[in-house]
Amino acid sequence: MRIPIDSSSTAPLYRQIQDFLRDQISQGLLEPGAKLPSTRRLAKDLGISRITVKNAYLNLESEGLITSWEGSGTYVMVPIHSTTVSSSDQIPSWPAWQRAFESDDHPESQEDNRGPEPVDMISFTGVGDSQEYPILEFTRALKAVIRRQGEQAFNYGAFDGGYLPLRATLAQILASQGVKAPPENVLITSGSQQALSLICQTLLNPGDVVIVEKPTYNLALDLFRALNLKIVGVPLDEEGMQVDRLETILNKYSPRLIYTIPNFQNPSGVCLSGTRRRQLANLADRFNVPIVEDDFVGDLRYDGRALPAVKALDPGGRVIYIGTFSKMLMPGLRMGYLVAEGPVYAQLVKAKRVRDLTSSPLLQRTLYEFVTVGRYQMHLRRSIKRYRKRRDAVLAAITEFLPEVHAIRPSGGLFVWAALPEGYSSRQLLPLALEQGTEYAPGDIFFPYPAKGLRYLRLNFATQSEETIREGIQRLAAAFSRMAV
Ligand code: PMP
Repeated sequence: MRIPIDSSSTAPLYRQIQDFLRDQISQGLLEPGAKLPSTRRLAKDLGISRITVKNAYLNLESEGLITSWEGSGTYVMVPIHSTTVSSSDQIPSWPAWQRAFESDDHPESQEDNRGPEPVDMISFTGVGDSQEYPILEFTRALKAVIRRQGEQAFNYGAFDGGYLPLRATLAQILASQGVKAPPENVLITSGSQQALSLICQTLLNPGDVVIVEKPTYNLALDLFRALNLKIVGVPLDEEGMQVDRLETILNKYSPRLIYTIPNFQNPSGVCLSGTRRRQLANLADRFNVPIVEDDFVGDLRYDGRALPAVKALDPGGRVIYIGTFSKMLMPGLRMGYLVAEGPVYAQLVKAKRVRDLTSSPLLQRTLYEFVTVGRYQMHLRRSIKRYRKRRDAVLAAITEFLPEVHAIRPSGGLFVWAALPEGYSSRQLLPLALEQGTEYAPGDIFFPYPAKGLRYLRLNFATQSEETIREGIQRLAAAFSRMAV
């Protein structure tokens, strides 16, 4: 079989293969029942590794497009919604209003949103370890809520800040971190992504300038781009945002928002130092600029003492704090929140109401049940113990197998941020890494101007066991050595 492969493309080889086969199947060029070449044969024909072909096949299988029969081969499946339209009918003619969107396909920095990885792949992407999700305990809490409060839980509830007992519990948790917030200032959102989105849509207009750390969370960048905001980055070092550079930037750009991730930053893993937290809060106050403090993973601390939240330094109404249960519990809950005081709080509640009315009352109540019986804290303690070892394992493996790579040691969170030697590109390394059976998030997606991030890569160490991490870094080292020659 001839599959056009572009080894200079940024798309990994296995995705090129699977996209090509998917197109062939959807256009009817590969008919249901057609036999595909064996992975060995196709790998040989294309001059690539067998694991690459296997990964493409596994993904197509999980999409339900092909199936493998032990000892017989791999076949194109009969589509579940089989239609009788001819292949030429399948190229849709969109109405004019749809065609207007066709040219508007600006590339988004993708990560975190993919399905399960092929079995052989050691992936350093993603968030927490899904095998450790407390599914049974959560199911128990869910059943208890349905049994005791089914009627209320399946109703809308009030379109206000969310389920009040959950907000009160969050207020208590936050108070223990120095953030004094009455439950009336907490708004439950669909993940912290929605919290950020509501804030931007309430406070900002197209063309406004938003200040970010450089690098920063890629989907925050995508959100800012989608809202046509101008993004200005402040470089960071091992103590977080270089706040001493901020005053000049504030003077020059008159920004309307500062977005910061002070704890175990995504992607760099660094924490904003205590001194800089105070400087940042003071500067933002002096320049009358709101701060959004994104504390997405602050409870996952492996060593050292917690620093005061920037919000804890706020005399009131300067900082909007956002948090989430995605990383410390399970992202599929879509449970996040924001804390804001002053007139803006009511505006944010209104913004939430008109966008999705409310976050699921059933899940809010279940989360409350789960947290108040102490299961959340137990899960957190277990995760900290487990992830600390994994953090140590990834750093040790980098020192052993990739001594050329500089990695920052994070004192918590999920990520190790690593730099290849000057002149190397993590984008070019990625297809080689995939061929070796490992992957990571390339650094460019975390920069307002991607070209700046080419040397870097982000490794999530939380999702794999220590042995697998070691094996994964060895694979990465093998890929790197192929690039180095
Ligand atoms: N902030 C940061 C820094 C993140 O990494 C993420 C998710 N990757 C989010 C916010 C949004 O997460 P969620 O909407 O699941 O709470």
